[in-house]
Amino acid sequence: MNKYESEVCSVFEARFGHAPARTFFAPGRVNLIGEHIDYNGGRVMPCSLSLGTYAAASPRADGRIRLVSADMRGGVIEADIGAVSALECRPECFSGFGWAAYPLGVAAKLASRSHSIGGFEMAVCGSLPRGSGLSSSASLEVLTCAVLKELFGLTLDGVSASLLSLEAERDCAGVNCGIMDQFVCAMGRRGAAVLLDTHTLEYGYFPFDPGENVLLIMNTKKPRRLADSKYNERRAECEEALRLIGGLFEPQKTALCEITPEEFASVSAVLPEPLLRRARHAVTENRRTLEAAEALEAGDIARLGRLINASHDSLRDDYEVTGRALDTIVEAARSHPAVLGARMTGAGFGGCAIAIAERSAAEDVIAHVSALYRSRIGYDCEIYTAETGDAPFGKDDNDENC
Ligand code: ADP
Ligand code: MG
Repeated sequence: MNKYESEVCSVFEARFGHAPARTFFAPGRVNLIGEHIDYNGGRVMPCSLSLGTYAAASPRADGRIRLVSADMRGGVIEADIGAVSALECRPECFSGFGWAAYPLGVAAKLASRSHSIGGFEMAVCGSLPRGSGLSSSASLEVLTCAVLKELFGLTLDGVSASLLSLEAERDCAGVNCGIMDQFVCAMGRRGAAVLLDTHTLEYGYFPFDPGENVLLIMNTKKPRRLADSKYNERRAECEEALRLIGGLFEPQKTALCEITPEEFASVSAVLPEPLLRRARHAVTENRRTLEAAEALEAGDIARLGRLINASHDSLRDDYEVTGRALDTIVEAARSHPAVLGARMTGAGFGGCAIAIAERSAAEDVIAHVSALYRSRIGYDCEIYTAETGDAPFGKDDNDENC
């Protein structure tokens, strides 16, 4: 039992007065490549982490739900399964529950699909930084699916759990996001990255075991303040670009990422600035993601590093979603000779970046980036060495996608 499992069990026992029936884990995630294209029908390639959220839980016979988080003030949040099932899935109906809107949203969504669930007690505890783009929210939603599946013997596969968790995040917590986060938090596997087609939900596992290298997650500690408004602006720009060029193809293209870079070159003159650059990012990032899958299949981490560098440059120059903190941390990493590639990950404007570095030099890279970042930005970043981890639904299906 690791220290988070012990903590979640002791919080459970202290609050609920008995030992939990079981403990559970769902990972956070980091996206290796394929950024800002999940809403353009593109491919993404995230991996699930060994950092994530732990739960200790037991069923209750009386329909009461009692939730506590070791990471939040405010004590036990109580609800009733009958009342939660009757709530309309709108953010106004869940906002009074604070952080518990995520697990209660999942319970409400399960109930709305006729899954038979009763009351339960659950304590949670996270080893992930929250609100930093490593998807602690999706981790918590998927964790709740895993808990309720086990406690109430539900028939629930990983793809359904991801879709239901996404709906809980959108409808109950009021956060608009794509399917990538929930999908990989539910379906990821240790030692693998997941290539996911966000249009069709086709997916496959690619070996990501950096071996002599290590994946670093570099948290700029800059809040992602602009991220929401710019996210909506970029989505609108991509829709407008598609409207202008989609119909120039026969058959018509229904998503930017259906257009290859070669096809794009033949129509790009139609697009005004900045739509040209926005669309070029989507089209080229989708190609880079496919090339990254090839690189992983060949065990070519150096090629993955170059693609990761190109991804950041495109997000900085064409998509304009990086900002000073992310550019500085990425440049600091790249200036170390043991770094194979670095880029922002997540929505941008703050949050986290990733780097792939030679494992033997990891400590030196961390010290180098930390010092440079502090001297240029004026406050400290946080850097974690990340390992991949198993997700609760990652091994449920047959192995045809391996
Ligand atoms: P991210 O998903 O990038 O970490 P979000 O803002 O989407 O950031 O989600 C963070 C929110 O998820 C927290 O504010 C909290 O409401 C909820 N959450 C995540 N982890 C926990 C936890 N361990 N305990 C309680 N709430 C959590
Ligand atoms: Mg989130």
